[in-house]
Amino acid sequence: MRHTTITLKASALQKNLNTIRQNAPTAKVMAMVKANAYGHGIAWALQGLLEADAYGVASFGEGVQVFDILSKINCQKLSVKPIVLIEGVFSQSEWLQALDYNFSCVVHCQNQLDWALANVPKNVSFSRTIWLKYNTGMNRLGFGKNDVLASAKLLMDKGYNIILTSHFACADDRENLANGLQIERFNEVLGALKAMHADKIQGSLCNSAGIFNFPSVHYDWVRAGIALYGGMAVADKTPNQLGLRPVMTFTTHIFAIHELNVGEQVGYGGLWMADKPSRIGVLSVGYGDGYPRVVQNAHVFITKNSQQFLIPVVGRVAMDMMMIDITDVPVGVGDEVVLWGEGLPAYQVANWANTIDYELFCKTTARPLRQLAM
Ligand SMILES: *Cc1c(COP(=O)(O)O)cnc(C)c1O
Repeated sequence: MRHTTITLKASALQKNLNTIRQNAPTAKVMAMVKANAYGHGIAWALQGLLEADAYGVASFGEGVQVFDILSKINCQKLSVKPIVLIEGVFSQSEWLQALDYNFSCVVHCQNQLDWALANVPKNVSFSRTIWLKYNTGMNRLGFGKNDVLASAKLLMDKGYNIILTSHFACADDRENLANGLQIERFNEVLGALKAMHADKIQGSLCNSAGIFNFPSVHYDWVRAGIALYGGMAVADKTPNQLGLRPVMTFTTHIFAIHELNVGEQVGYGGLWMADKPSRIGVLSVGYGDGYPRVVQNAHVFITKNSQQFLIPVVGRVAMDMMMIDITDVPVGVGDEVVLWGEGLPAYQVANWANTIDYELFCKTTARPLRQLAM
């Protein structure tokens, strides 16, 4: 059997949700489960996130997936927690379908506003709460200040409640001046709306980074993604320092070994050459499993006989295999190798691949065996 495995740890997911709650004690927590729960598997992740207060997804299709899974778990054909479409709907007919499912939707543009005003859900429901998106400076989604105030008034007049929402562009970097500006803009509009209709207005600004870096602006809802999965939330603290544990551990085995003479090359393109007699271990994992091909000066982690080794990756990562230089370490065929997770945080591998751990998680493919652990 090929030993390439992704182990998913339920206790880590729960511990991370608790850590988020401790850091945001006054806010409700939306668990971001978009993109197949950041590649962790939506059905598995939801089982571990039943204590969350809402679930955030990117599309109607993802919302239906979450709805079906939660309905099965709850043994009833309605979800007891809001499912929020964070980009809203993409057509009027999708809006009507979203009402059928009782999804809660972001409204970020005029079309979505028109659909919501023309088709108000009759019953008090999750759909009667609109996540109204205010563009405070990221310039990705949302209304400007005047339009957001006008839209809010139109929606409230139709009987909607509003959660004013916005998204940080630079929250991982606490000192970045953009943060203060976004917070100031958000506070101003939230204050103006509350002055009109305090009982119909809530606020939500923080993603994972905001939860840790900006505790004074948690408002009513925080939206936690990467922190749930134990990834890198802020620039100046490791997940471990924040009390977060890796949920995903990606492992394989050494399954072949070569002894090389000086001058011999390794892998496609012969990118790596032995400058001394070398021992090369071959791993049964590659970019076809989701290990990034683009890594430079990357390492893998091995524990053997209570000793820990960080071992360099050599040569090009191939689709199914990659090589490591085990010249100086007492390891051999059959030994387990951690690609990322427990022992080697994913953000470090992400650094070697010039990306972020979010992308590594999302890009794991269906090929590795998924193994569940407590
Ligand atoms: C994905 C997403 C989040 C979660 O971000 P993390 O950095 O993973 O915590 C929060 N809010 C919105 C609107 C998102 O799209």
